[in-house]
Amino acid sequence: MTIILDGKNTANKIIEELKNKTAELTKKPKLAVILAGNNPASCIYVNNKQKKAHYIGFESVVIPLPEDVTEENILEHIFILNEDTNINAILIQLPLPKGINTQKILEAIDPVKDVDGFTSFNFGRLALGYEPYVYPCTPKGIIRLLDEYNITLAGQNVLVIGRSNIVGKPVSFMLQQRNATVTMANSYTKNLKEPALNSDIIISAAGKAGFITSEFIREGAVIVDVGINRTQNGITGDIDFISAAPKASYITPVPGGIGPMTIAMLMENTYQLFEIQRKFLI
Ligand code: NAD
Repeated sequence: MTIILDGKNTANKIIEELKNKTAELTKKPKLAVILAGNNPASCIYVNNKQKKAHYIGFESVVIPLPEDVTEENILEHIFILNEDTNINAILIQLPLPKGINTQKILEAIDPVKDVDGFTSFNFGRLALGYEPYVYPCTPKGIIRLLDEYNITLAGQNVLVIGRSNIVGKPVSFMLQQRNATVTMANSYTKNLKEPALNSDIIISAAGKAGFITSEFIREGAVIVDVGINRTQNGITGDIDFISAAPKASYITPVPGGIGPMTIAMLMENTYQLFEIQRKFLI
């Protein structure tokens, strides 16, 4: 029997816990989001994040900047947010408009307000196996969902498809920290089926609609689909769910899997940064 890894339900539980904890606070955690340009998907994501923050009881502010914003202008906003003691968490919605150096922008965030964990301080600590202030949201959401279903990571062969800084790389570090044996694949990987069929767990973050079919899946494997692909049939993942699900022991749906977990982790990270900053002040 295949079990659905229900990200929506798990995320809702986390959100409710945060809401209860936040209700007890006099001063509320505050998230700032910089939204540069008018990428329609980014606007939807930011709107959803803001709604969730308000539902929990956090304060939040969105700073919308035009498509032709300069690097200097974004940096100025970040410096102001870094200095503002009312702001606990800063998120730069990606992708940034063409011509903007993403690395330079992310590096300008004060690591203790880096809610995505993308600065080299936090990412470097993650890579070294030290505790960052917070872990990147999507990888953290993946591991949390697997833990929720008591899926063993230690000693398991895990294939991570995609090596981006947002998903593939950080999740591979987190899995190694949990004693998994990790294989990384990218678009140059030859014969992906070979490592796939040798894997107890497959995590796909390639952004290729339905390209992982049942032929890539060992009987009883755990399948985590991070992909969000806009197709004629709506939003789909990287996994061909219909063919893959019967072979899997556990599988995430798209939507309703890693997407809601990512937002829940963003909210949890906002809360954690608030707490860390509060301790600094004591
Ligand atoms: P990216 O484009 O930065 O990276 C994609 C990676 O996949 C690259 O490393 C590339 O080499 C690899 N790849 C592409 N085709 C491949 C193939 N055929 N075989 C093996 N590797 C291949 O993407 P990203 O930012 O990591 O996002 C990946 C996907 O995850 C996208 O669909 C994105 O929308 C989605 N995503 C979802 C969430 C969420 O909350 N669910 C969060 C972040 C990203």
